[in-house]
Amino acid sequence: MTTSHEAEALFGNRFLTERAPSTTFPENGMRPTDAMRLLAEDLNLEGDPQRNLATFVTTWMEPEAQRIIAENLHRNFIDHAEYPISAEIEQRCVRMLADLFHAPGETTGCRTQGSSEAIMLGALSLKWKWKERREAENRSTDRPNLVFGGDVHVVWEKFCRYFDVEPRIVPLEKDKYTIGPADVEPHLDENTIGVAAVLGTTFTGHMDDIPGINQLLLDIKSRRGLDIPLHVDGASGAFVWPFLHPDSQWDFALEQVRSINVSGHKYGLVYPGIGWLVFREKSDLAEDLVFYENYLGKTDATFTLNFSTGAAMVLAQYYNFVRLGRDGYTYVMKQMQQNANTLATNLRESGRFEVIGDDLEQLPLVAFRLAGDHASYDESDIAWQLSAERGWMVPAYTLPPNAQEVKIMRALVKETMSREQVERLTQDIADACTTLDEKGGTTQTERQQVKRGTGY
Ligand SMILES: *Cc1c(COP(=O)(O)O)cnc(C)c1O
Repeated sequence: MTTSHEAEALFGNRFLTERAPSTTFPENGMRPTDAMRLLAEDLNLEGDPQRNLATFVTTWMEPEAQRIIAENLHRNFIDHAEYPISAEIEQRCVRMLADLFHAPGETTGCRTQGSSEAIMLGALSLKWKWKERREAENRSTDRPNLVFGGDVHVVWEKFCRYFDVEPRIVPLEKDKYTIGPADVEPHLDENTIGVAAVLGTTFTGHMDDIPGINQLLLDIKSRRGLDIPLHVDGASGAFVWPFLHPDSQWDFALEQVRSINVSGHKYGLVYPGIGWLVFREKSDLAEDLVFYENYLGKTDATFTLNFSTGAAMVLAQYYNFVRLGRDGYTYVMKQMQQNANTLATNLRESGRFEVIGDDLEQLPLVAFRLAGDHASYDESDIAWQLSAERGWMVPAYTLPPNAQEVKIMRALVKETMSREQVERLTQDIADACTTLDEKGGTTQTERQQVKRGTGY
């Protein structure tokens, strides 16, 4: 007779019958298989990334890329002395991005954990460059401000709070979800460290009027002698526009665009933790922010908020660049756009929805809201019903001030969303609406459970 302990070791794992450790540091360890299965079983209950149409972040990479990642998880990116090739591959990626973004000459940039770190660093450089300009003129440096629209990601306000800069936020309006030069102009003065414009907003996927803002800044430079730099937050858009809208003007081809961030883990098509910051010219990076250290055996320049981090995602990014090239990225973006267009057409033809701004340059997504009067339920009800019935995660959210009475839904149509799935989603949305037509809106408590952000 085997004891129950032996039987468990032979046939099962401990957590079939025991709670998972969660409050105190475990006294005893467990077998590797037990630990692995404990985690796997816990994670099974999470959302299915394939049905997560809320996130901008990559949920699929091809097997060869996964292999590169798995085989390089042990490389510490910051250790340039030990891993100089990884560092060189980072610089190759920076040069390729600078080329993609039409940088006029030699440039500089770096990998980051994502666009948030890239924005913190880029905005810090704006602040430092502004300080240099002010100090050179013997003027005060205690009231810096940064101008951006209400359509930005939360990281911009975070930067302002963390690094003590006054945010000057241009409010949105009903039916106007991006900003342009006329909105920006009244907020600019000698203490403006820069203007941030978005290429592909998280809310509706559109771009601010970047050429218009660039022209405004050029005019101000010649009229008032104020050289205010423009930073483009291309977290999503900077990997979409070069391929879908190559004739659109938004990058270093515009003179006041001094720095650009992009998330490798969004439309760069790499798994999370990779972003990029690229400067127009070397002189756009404030030299004061670069630290030189030789802890790891060789003097090295670092411009980063973190220190140690994995090299695998840098390598995966390079893999994608050489694997896909311009024609590969163009193919993938167009395929997503085509399926997004089909979804938009389906939703419009259903008669229930209006689609927001799909006649404009946009990320491959569909932003939509109920058309006409559906007083018995709203977009949040549909999001909840759709998730409950079919497991699709399609967020509903209100737009930022002063468009906060507008509620919309947004579906990202990614690489893995096939035409067949588009048709299925269309049907599932229709079914969710039919359920709601019959029973009315969901309850507050039900709704609390699907309160999701606007995606990341
Ligand atoms: C996602 C996003 C960010 C933040 O990027 P992370 O890579 O998630 O840190 C910033 N700005 C915009 C416009 C975004 O879409």
